[in-house]
Amino acid sequence: MLYGVFEVNIKCPKCDGPVPLNGPWEVAHCDRCQADVDIPHDYWLDIFRDTDGEMRSGETGEGEGANSQIFGTFHTTMMYGRMKPYCPECKTELPVDPAKAPYVHKCPGCGRDMPVVPVPAGLKEAYPPAAIVVGGSLQGKEEGGEEAPAEPIAFSCIKCGGALMVDGTERVVPCEFCGVKVYLPDDLWLRMHPAKVKERWRIGFDEKVERPKGEDE
Ligand SMILES: [Zn+2]
Ligand SMILES: [Zn+2]
Ligand SMILES: [Zn+2]
Repeated sequence: MLYGVFEVNIKCPKCDGPVPLNGPWEVAHCDRCQADVDIPHDYWLDIFRDTDGEMRSGETGEGEGANSQIFGTFHTTMMYGRMKPYCPECKTELPVDPAKAPYVHKCPGCGRDMPVVPVPAGLKEAYPPAAIVVGGSLQGKEEGGEEAPAEPIAFSCIKCGGALMVDGTERVVPCEFCGVKVYLPDDLWLRMHPAKVKERWRIGFDEKVERPKGEDE
């Protein structure tokens, strides 16, 4: 198995806000404007083909990598490297077992949980060598379950100054005193919905599976 490590950030196509892609998922969520952004398979396919190709040819050796900007489907900032899975906490190497995915690999050094999941089926079909995702986190709607309401926060109505208690379940809150609809400002909204931060994740590419070539190869 060849492991590529990734850190990927795109600009939201709706509001230009930063959207971290913490795994090769099919949908991402913008914390700034609340848009769900569809990530097409072709987007990941290009990235997989390039990085897997560079690892197989030896162009990228273990521990090597690069930063890049891509101006395509999305304005992308990406860090990519070739690196076996290890614990981000205590740096112990994690010999994950692709055959067991999905499962949680517990770090033998510090006990931290590392999720090991199969690459989404549609993406694997598009790029068969891509086998497993190690680390990262699910995003947007795939995260599953309802978000618990945040601790209520007092907020003054912009029109009448009345004290409103907001809990973060709705972005637009009707004022119970004057009836105006109040749109909660970014700083307050983000306090109740902390923005996702960039995380590192890995793809395990199975070098025994033939790599589909791009048109330009
Ligand atoms: Zn946005
Ligand atoms: Zn550890
Ligand atoms: Zn009011």
